[in-house]
Amino acid sequence: MLLITCPVTGNRELVGLSAVRAVVNHADAIAVHVTCPGCGQEHVHRTGRRVEEARRAAALEVAVRRAETLLPA
Ligand SMILES: [Zn+2]
Repeated sequence: MLLITCPVTGNRELVGLSAVRAVVNHADAIAVHVTCPGCGQEHVHRTGRRVEEARRAAALEVAVRRAETLLPA
């Protein structure tokens, strides 16, 4: 099961494995092509360890910048 955000309706949709049309392995992530249960169109959902790492790294960077703003050297 995958949880995707439909770009058409903006709703979060729970997608079963039977709705997965293709899985494409990219260098930085895995692209999962699914038929959306919300709107019936095909969407590409990117997933994978590196995507999560990049997301965490970006969040950490924001937190560090915020801390620097609060505590000027
Ligand atoms: Zn959709």
